[in-house]
Amino acid sequence: MTHQLPPLPFSANDLAPAISSVTVGYHYGKHHQAYVNNLNNLIGGTPYENTPLETIIAKAPAGPIFNNAAQVFNHTFYFQQFKSQHEAKKRPENELLRAIEKSFGTFDKFIDDFSKAAATVFGSGWAWLIREHDGNLAITQESNAGCPLAKKQTPILTCDVWEHAYYLDYQNKRPDYIKAFWEVVDWKVIERRFNV
Ligand code: MN
Repeated sequence: MTHQLPPLPFSANDLAPAISSVTVGYHYGKHHQAYVNNLNNLIGGTPYENTPLETIIAKAPAGPIFNNAAQVFNHTFYFQQFKSQHEAKKRPENELLRAIEKSFGTFDKFIDDFSKAAATVFGSGWAWLIREHDGNLAITQESNAGCPLAKKQTPILTCDVWEHAYYLDYQNKRPDYIKAFWEVVDWKVIERRFNV
């Protein structure tokens, strides 16, 4: 089994001005592709050959195979949640909205809390909305290739805060990227993930 770079659910230009086509070009076309290529090269002749991505992430020890497998998953999860500013559903409804209100008070408070978590990841990493074993939603921070699947948490939403995700568009202003990020998150996708 060879791992593949999945197609984007939008055109490279669709996320501008929140995320420019140049950033999509490098982030998806170079970084995400490189994680896929590295993973395929690393697993050849190992027990992880012909193994689904999620199983590699759950089983591989810390090291290059885990890092590249987790980064393939994390980036696919990240890119699949976006639509153009005009097409993206801007707020969750029904069960997901109720779960967010239960865990965070209000939707706006959740946006605040998640944005703060993303802004304060030290160095490269990810902010996540996850479902815990008890069914409750929580916000987590992960460094580098950290991935909720490795902790048996269910990922719902993620924000990549590696500099390559925003530096071309926002330079050092990570909070500006995070603010714009919400413009292109499609809550229809997030609801679908939550309702699985
Ligand atoms: Mn990235």
